[in-house]
Amino acid sequence: MVCAAAGARGILAEASNSVSDVSKLIQIDDDHFHDHCGVFGIFGHPEASKLTYLGLYALQHRGQESAGIASSDGSDVHIHKSLGHVQEIFTPEVIGHLPGTAAIGHTRYSTAGDTTLINAQPIVIDCNKGKVALGHNGNLTNALELRRKLEHRGSIFQTTSDTEVIVHLVARSAARNLPGALADALSQVEGAYSLLVLTRDEMYAIRDPRGFRPLVLGRFDGAWAVGSETCAFDLIDAEYVREVEPGEMLRISRSGVESIHFAAEKQHQHCIFEHVYFSRPDSLIFGRPVNESRERLGRLLAREHPVEADIVTPVPDSGVPAAVGYAAESGIPFRMGLIRNHYVGRTFIEPEQAIRDFGVKLKLNPIRRMLEGQRVILVDDSLVRGTTSRKIVRLVRDAGATEVHVRVSCPPTISPCYYGIDTPRREELIAAQHSVEEIRQFLGADSLGYLSLDSLRAAVEDTEGNFCTACYTGTYPTELVQLEVEAHREG
Ligand code: SF4
Repeated sequence: MVCAAAGARGILAEASNSVSDVSKLIQIDDDHFHDHCGVFGIFGHPEASKLTYLGLYALQHRGQESAGIASSDGSDVHIHKSLGHVQEIFTPEVIGHLPGTAAIGHTRYSTAGDTTLINAQPIVIDCNKGKVALGHNGNLTNALELRRKLEHRGSIFQTTSDTEVIVHLVARSAARNLPGALADALSQVEGAYSLLVLTRDEMYAIRDPRGFRPLVLGRFDGAWAVGSETCAFDLIDAEYVREVEPGEMLRISRSGVESIHFAAEKQHQHCIFEHVYFSRPDSLIFGRPVNESRERLGRLLAREHPVEADIVTPVPDSGVPAAVGYAAESGIPFRMGLIRNHYVGRTFIEPEQAIRDFGVKLKLNPIRRMLEGQRVILVDDSLVRGTTSRKIVRLVRDAGATEVHVRVSCPPTISPCYYGIDTPRREELIAAQHSVEEIRQFLGADSLGYLSLDSLRAAVEDTEGNFCTACYTGTYPTELVQLEVEAHREG
């Protein structure tokens, strides 16, 4: 479960700096929320596995710990999954063992203590509905309860992933065909799921009735493509057709695409954080270009929190579009005062002689000539624990900035996510415990400004309450009592 494991994470560079050992390892944490998964699938193409590998490659930012592809050649479902990055796992030889004209793939982010192959997806089962592979993006909020009930009735679970709950419910369903069994299973689960299912001769793309996580349909060379984000379509030159609608199940077979509305309509709850941070800026998410949303966040931030300064500098890469928007709105020049190293892994050996802010310096290097003597507006897309931001402020000051004004292109994050995003526990979220002024002092910034919730909604044109904002409000759109209890017990 996401929420339980999330608490175990977050060993920051600062914490391990105190260890006196020549070979001490520091764990790099960028102090952001992390998405858990990306999914991609192709139906009706002779190079289905290769195209799925490329789709997953484009979705690598949604999960970097494990990846898997299941393919179907019409008579059997083949599977390969492993820990690591997509490019490392899927060698030409591996892809050669994934034959067929249909394939689904999954890339997964996991948490400390949870980096196990057993939880890698797709999950494959052979049941009375045939051989079925499942890949899931999202998190179920009643999975624990369902799991206990299923175990009581004799189900034996092989993973700790909530996706397996869906698998067991499908296998136990009395429905005579797979779409019926899927609908039956999904009527019992609560929470977020964008789901791909592959059988010997069909592929299903399913989205929960609230539409928390994205899922899009595309067309490629006569084949059908589905994926978490449109950036995956761009890589293979697939054409974007539309979103899979919330509460919709697409049954894709040789006869074409059949749309089945398997659940009663619910108020949509698209994850607003996909637009703030998770999704790639070149993607279309919930029908909107992410880059446009982010620039708009920056513009609104400039209107809400203006300040006299010389330059606007983003915390790269994710803070760039909002900083562009802030600079455009304020008329203050945009400057890339911090340069990001893109080749940073999650752990590093630090020399015995302590280097101040080593973890952050591995990732970001300030350009002294650009920052020296300047009043800097530092734009970031989110602030979770605040520990990394504090080091970045120090880095910018040490490079000669005379003032550092931090601007965050979303509201204070006060609550964890239970819908498929890895977040720290509430106690670790700096804004859950402290006022804006206290956070400013902690960061060592001259001023601090967060975007308001109204402006966040305005940036994505949410006039009808179609977006989830629970991590900013603490008000969740589904029942959570059991999860909260569990999180405290395991935390
Ligand atoms: S709680 Fe936050 S991160 Fe989670 S789905 Fe809602 S908006 Fe997205």
